Parts: sequence; structure tokens; C-alpha cells
Amino acid sequence: LGGAGGLAALALAGCVAERPTTERQIDPENAYVGISMPTKSLERWNRDGANLEKELQALGYRTTLQYADNRTDQQISQIQNMVTGDVDIVVIASIDGTVLGPVIEQAAAKGITVIAYDRLIEGSEAVDYYVTFDNFRVGQMQGEAIVEALGMESEPGPFHLELFAGSPDDPNAAQFFGGTWDVLEPYFADGRAISPSGKVPASAEEWTSIGILGWDSAKAQSEMQTRLNSFYADGTPLHAVLAPADSLALGIEQAIAARGYVPGQNWPFVTGQDADKANVLNMLADKQGMTVFKDMREQGKRAAIMCQSIIAGEEPEITPDAGYNNGVKDVPTFLLEPQSITKEDIPSVLVDSGFYTADELGL
Ligand code: BGC
Repeated sequence: LGGAGGLAALALAGCVAERPTTERQIDPENAYVGISMPTKSLERWNRDGANLEKELQALGYRTTLQYADNRTDQQISQIQNMVTGDVDIVVIASIDGTVLGPVIEQAAAKGITVIAYDRLIEGSEAVDYYVTFDNFRVGQMQGEAIVEALGMESEPGPFHLELFAGSPDDPNAAQFFGGTWDVLEPYFADGRAISPSGKVPASAEEWTSIGILGWDSAKAQSEMQTRLNSFYADGTPLHAVLAPADSLALGIEQAIAARGYVPGQNWPFVTGQDADKANVLNMLADKQGMTVFKDMREQGKRAAIMCQSIIAGEEPEITPDAGYNNGVKDVPTFLLEPQSITKEDIPSVLVDSGFYTADELGL
């Protein structure tokens, strides 16, 4: 290699690092798994972390569990410590799917297997596997629930919808909005649905224009407050709000309550995801119309089974043609099926399965 062309080739080689082929012999008696979670501030990850740790320990593995406070630099240094500490596998729910390449490439160089958990890690060859619920399907379920609740298929409208999307740094957020847009776009295209705020992305790809950074409840609340004050104060009805996750739904519901909307009367249909406790209570109080339940106990079990296969030196089971490409490779993925639930399903789905006790929900 010589001259400018050679340098360019080298630089390129630096970007798209080949997956090193280091073989790592793992002693099953002494296997060590690192778990890197994004934050304790969003309810689900607390359950995910605790549950994953429990599943892995039940299989006899040592674990280290770290939460990164929604700060990418912190997550990178925590993973770096796991690599230095000689874990055999790292299971990572990323904060920003695009910035972990260098640190997971260090892991790969030591033969450490990298499993992306729930959120895909993008732009790197070093992601070995991905365990997730079908994210596109989640978005479709939220769109379908709005269509069904408002009777949009049989009525001309126009229905007034306000749209929110997830955190711009989370690749799942694109999938969720893509799924919802697949369902709602035809209604916006022919005017059966409109957003009085005008906050409608020009295409599914432009969803970040309505994204809420960090999936932050308070940010969603203030955005909803602004929209209600600016576009609904004159009595314009609001029929539904697309909230891609419960954390956003909660802030949105607080803004709706603060403007004096009444459940069962003029309260809009609000979507959600995760079956967080406060949101399930709001569903019971008719303040949230649905949530998408993704049982993280199943997700944790699946990630643990994957670790077990890797530790045994076997190929983990994956879903054929799951279709998750991270920009440089198709990542072998195990897909789980999400479940759309309304108030009526709470006892049978959430209580009977032990996700919540009847007591916790005041049932
Ligand atoms: C997860 C959702 C969660 C959101 C905010 C997404 O990546 O898939 O389940 O609601 O992050 O924590």
C-alpha cells in the first residue's frame, strides 16, 4: 500500500473492522457474563437487568450488572471494564446504537461474544447476536389500536391525532415509528387523520422530527403541554395520541390531566409500550388505552439460553430471516412476539402470569 490510495484503504479498513476470529474456550464451571443496561431511570431496564442476572446465575454463571445513567461515555467505560475484567460474553442494551463499535471490537478481539439485547448495535461487525421483540410489529400494534379504538376504518373523520416518536439515538424508535406509519399513513394521506399541531413527519424516515430524546417523560410532558396550549385551547377535540412507550405516555397523560380532560368523556386514546406499573394503573383509570406488553422475563430467559449455547460451544438458536441488518451485517436474531393489551386483558395477562400481583394494581 502506498500513496493516498493506500492511506484511504487503511482508513477504510479501520472503519469496517473485520470480526477477529479469536476462539475463546469457556470453562462452563467458571463462565462470566457482563450485563450492560442503559439506565435505572426507565422502569423496564430495572426489571431486565435483575431478571437477566437471575436467569444467568440460575445456570451457574458469574455475572456483573452495570447501569449507565443514559450516558454513552459511561456505558462505553463500563463495557471496557467488563472486557478488561475478562467476561466471556457481554449482553448489552445500548443507549446509542451507533457508538459502541470500538468497544465491542475490543471485546471481539479477545474472543468475547457480544449479544445486543433489545436494542441493536449498529455499524459494527462485532455484534454476534441480537435478542429482541419484533419492534416493527410493536409500532403496528400501536397504530392498529388507534384505528380500532376510534373506529377509523368505517368513519370519514377527520380524526385528530398527535404523534410522538422515541429517542432519536435508539434504533428501535425508527422501527416503532415505521410500524405505526405503515398503519396510519393511508389515513393521513387522504385526510381522514390530521394533526392540528402539524407535527407529522413527511415520511417514516423523518420520524426524528417528533422524537423525544432519552425517552424522557418530562420532555414528552412539556411537548404535549405546548401542543395542547397552542392548538387545542379553543376546544378543538383531540382523539388520540401516539406514544411509542409508557415513559412518554406517562408525561403525555400528565399534560392531558393538567388541562382538565376527563377520563371517559373527552380524554384521548393514548398508546404505550412496556406495561410499566404507573401506566397499567392509568389504563385501569381509563387514562391510557393500551400498552404493548413485551414480557422481559421471556426475553431474559432467551438471552440466558443463548449464553448457555455459546458457553457450551454450540450455535445458539435464532429466528430464520429475522431481517435485522445493522448497516454492515445481518445480525443473527432471536425474535419474540409482543402482545397488545387493553384494560380488559390486565387480569389475565399481567396478573395471572405473576408480572404484577392483584394487590399492586389495587384489583
Ligand atoms: C425499548 C422499549 C422501551 C424504550 C424506552 C426501547 O428501546 O424497546 O421497550 O420502552 O426503549 O426505555
